Amino acid sequence: MADISYTTTQTGTPVASDEYSLTTGPDGVTALHDRYLVEKLASFNRERVPERNPHAKGGGAFGTFTVTEDVSAYTRAAVFQPGAEAEVLLRFSSVAGEQGSPDTWRDVRGFALRFYTTEGNLDIVGNNTPIFFLRDAMKFPDFIHSQKRTGASGLRNADMQWDFWTLSPESAHQVTYLMGDRGLSKSWRHLNGYGSHTYQWVNAAGERFWVQYHFISKQGVEHMSAADAERIAGEDADYYRRDLYNSIAAGDFPTWEVKVQVMPYEDAKTYRFNPFDMTKVWPHADYPLIKVGEFTLNRNPQNFFAEIEQAAFSPGNQVPGTGISPDKMLMARVFSYPDAQRYRIGTNYNQLPVNQPHAAPAFTYMHQGNMAYHFNSADTPVYAPNSFGYPHAAPERAVEASWEADGELVRSAYSLHSEDDDFGQARTLYNDVFDEGAKDRFHETLAGQYSALTVEAVKERFFWYWGQVDEKIVAGIKAKLAAQGANEADPIGHEAATA
Ligand code: NDP
Repeated sequence: MADISYTTTQTGTPVASDEYSLTTGPDGVTALHDRYLVEKLASFNRERVPERNPHAKGGGAFGTFTVTEDVSAYTRAAVFQPGAEAEVLLRFSSVAGEQGSPDTWRDVRGFALRFYTTEGNLDIVGNNTPIFFLRDAMKFPDFIHSQKRTGASGLRNADMQWDFWTLSPESAHQVTYLMGDRGLSKSWRHLNGYGSHTYQWVNAAGERFWVQYHFISKQGVEHMSAADAERIAGEDADYYRRDLYNSIAAGDFPTWEVKVQVMPYEDAKTYRFNPFDMTKVWPHADYPLIKVGEFTLNRNPQNFFAEIEQAAFSPGNQVPGTGISPDKMLMARVFSYPDAQRYRIGTNYNQLPVNQPHAAPAFTYMHQGNMAYHFNSADTPVYAPNSFGYPHAAPERAVEASWEADGELVRSAYSLHSEDDDFGQARTLYNDVFDEGAKDRFHETLAGQYSALTVEAVKERFFWYWGQVDEKIVAGIKAKLAAQGANEADPIGHEAATA
């Protein structure tokens, strides 16, 4: 309850009515100087900030991370030292749909995790997939355009989705994952998160390691059937958001184990896969998972807009002892994410309570700009260096990730390592990880996708693409199409392609 018993304007003046605007007599015209009405309508008109593009629809909660093991040999980050605890914030999302889109449309799920550490905020902004569709950010806007809506009709369109994917064969591993069971999670609680990129850790002695983060659901990884997903999309568009909120409200707190794969720095040069290629995993047999700790989500937001919609994550938010890598997608995201938030929320978005560091002090000479809220004391200079004893950079605290790089400026694909190709790991996923039931559902899903295609060149490339992964997939799709009696004159409609 508010500690005040009456309503006021935004500047604290008691208001005369919450119901009636000021008019010339009961039936007359409305007075423009009704400042409360004008303020109320103007505020209402500005309630929305631009939705994220992509990852617009989401939900999240706060929790607690605890380190249970000793990984100090690999990182000096305070948050990962034995016994350390930190507040966390986790936002789940769908990639392609808008704010109101149904949660259960088949999609990759965003998994954006923030640790409020004593050395600043650490954000690992990943997905429920250990890989991605692309390996160079130059293609990212085109990719998202192809998954969203056409220019003319504003409709989603299977032809353009598959046109882009099949012309970008590096997408095959991620598309295999997406069209498999993990493209339709039972809930946000029943999926794993992955950092997806390669990051760097630095230990107290200054030794560097490459790491991949894995957040393993203790609820188990479970999927829902395509039929259930389609039904629920109509019955409850907010199914995942509701499930998470209600579970936490009922005291049923979901937990994830935090694990890492650790690659010695020098291995990256000769490893059989380019370890910075975001379309690849590091097979567990090469780099086993090492447990770090666990986190539990135990607190719903008090206000969805302020704490989830305005939560502004960036993979560039790293702390001493953690850092990024020469993954081209990751380096571009370090620019792009804060840029998106400056556009969506405003220049000073990091001053909002959810984005401020909660466990570390912050001091900066950056100041002013739209909606500035924080300010330094009156005697603080507005520049550095200064002669008055105010803070200055402490490189010994900063410990940034680094790597050697030398070469001419070029526009080029990554250099290939011995086993790099576009289809090999997708083939492994299909042949060695999917069981017979999963393969059958995968063929069924792809047959449904094919049925929505109308452009001949895309249809042909669809079979070429899956044939490159494995000819058994082509045979499986064709068997499903034959069983359904589907033919080219029997499309199920573009919209159905993503359901
Ligand atoms: P493993 O047999 O050691 O690992 C396979 C992993 O696949 C499992 O540990 C599980 O990861 C994940 N998985 C299980 N069922 C499914 C499913 N239906 N859809 C997608 N993923 C599933 O083999 P490798 O490490 O050699 O990897 C083989 C393939 O497994 C890779 O090509 C990749 O497609 C996939 N994979 C690999 C991961 C990795 O980091 N090595 C992570 C996830 C998938 P988890 O325990 O994380 O749930």
